[in-house]
Amino acid sequence: MGTYGRFPLTLTRGKGCWVNDDCGNRYLDAVAGIATCTLGHSDRAMRHALTRQLRRLQHVSNLYAIPEQIELASWLVHHSCADSVFFCNSGAEANEAAIKLARKHGHTVRKIERPVILTARASFHGRTLAAVSATGQPNYHKGFEPMVEGFETFTYNDLASFESLLNRMEAYGPRVAAVLIEPLQGEGGVHPGDPAVFEAIREHCSARNILLIFDEVQVGMGRCGTLWGYERLGVEPDAFTLAKGLGGGHAIGALLVKKHADHFVPGDHASTFGGNPFACRAGLTVARELQRRNLIHNVQQRSDQLDRGLNSLVQRYPKLLQGVRGWGLLQGLVLRDDADLAAIDVVKHAIEQRLLLVPAGPKVVRMVPALVISKREVNTLLARLDATLATLSA
Ligand code: PLP
Repeated sequence: MGTYGRFPLTLTRGKGCWVNDDCGNRYLDAVAGIATCTLGHSDRAMRHALTRQLRRLQHVSNLYAIPEQIELASWLVHHSCADSVFFCNSGAEANEAAIKLARKHGHTVRKIERPVILTARASFHGRTLAAVSATGQPNYHKGFEPMVEGFETFTYNDLASFESLLNRMEAYGPRVAAVLIEPLQGEGGVHPGDPAVFEAIREHCSARNILLIFDEVQVGMGRCGTLWGYERLGVEPDAFTLAKGLGGGHAIGALLVKKHADHFVPGDHASTFGGNPFACRAGLTVARELQRRNLIHNVQQRSDQLDRGLNSLVQRYPKLLQGVRGWGLLQGLVLRDDADLAAIDVVKHAIEQRLLLVPAGPKVVRMVPALVISKREVNTLLARLDATLATLSA
């Protein structure tokens, strides 16, 4: 179906941070499947682990115990604030699970008949009906109304907006089951969360027994220079969702919860493919390689280098660029509002320089390369971006 506005490119091979098209051109890939190919393309460890797994067992139902699933869940629990995990296949599905969990919390713990979930404006939580209803961007709702009820929005990083919504909602008794929020808004324009605001939201949630759920689909698994986005904020959620980077390019999503938020019982929720041996092997390989290759350290170093380079581009092209935002290897180059230039123009021209980038809204160019990117490759990225901006400013 005509679901995607595609660039005129057919990618047929990849290795590390590089991809080839069907005409033999080679591109530096700062998109990485949109923050997904954690280890880059055709990673050796991933290839070996997955071919071994295919020879052993690919898929069995969740009617039976799955050792790879238990191993991945144990790794995630051991390395995060969570106590248990539900596996699914994508970010939207992980958020669907979180929304169901939130409603169950509302009914059983807060005794609310029609629970409400608070989400932020400019957020992005996925395209399934409940996830898109949670998404605070009306342009994603258009044509698909009626939306799923039970979501109310406040302004991201604006404590007064959050508090006034919360007070309004709870004026006549408990109504709010959960707050669902991204530690950094990715699709919404690469806006990092403000630790002071998140700390205050945490306090409000704890005081009222409201679940605080983080959508870590884009930021989780090391991308921000910490394993989890919540570490950047110094605030622990009661539950959080993952997908994208967790599978390193393979379909897997997860909802992770602390013990007090673990409300699901058999029959409440399920997924045919969720947590199958192949997907979990992919997740385990990402987890192991993150540690073995100390990739979070690489993210921190490459992030500093990228940040320095992008800021010097901002100095070089003051008529086009406004600034740089982001954490780790999730960086946004912000275009000036008054410049006659859209993020999509930069992305299109970068393709001619053999560089792949992705917009995050109309005025932000996003860079989310594989976490294995080298110092030399970051220099190449900056040089190609410089060449792109030089063409555009001319
Ligand atoms: N949540 C966030 C924060 C995302 O960035 C995305 C995708 O971009 C999603 C959810 C949806 O994930 P998926 O496309 O895997 O359903």
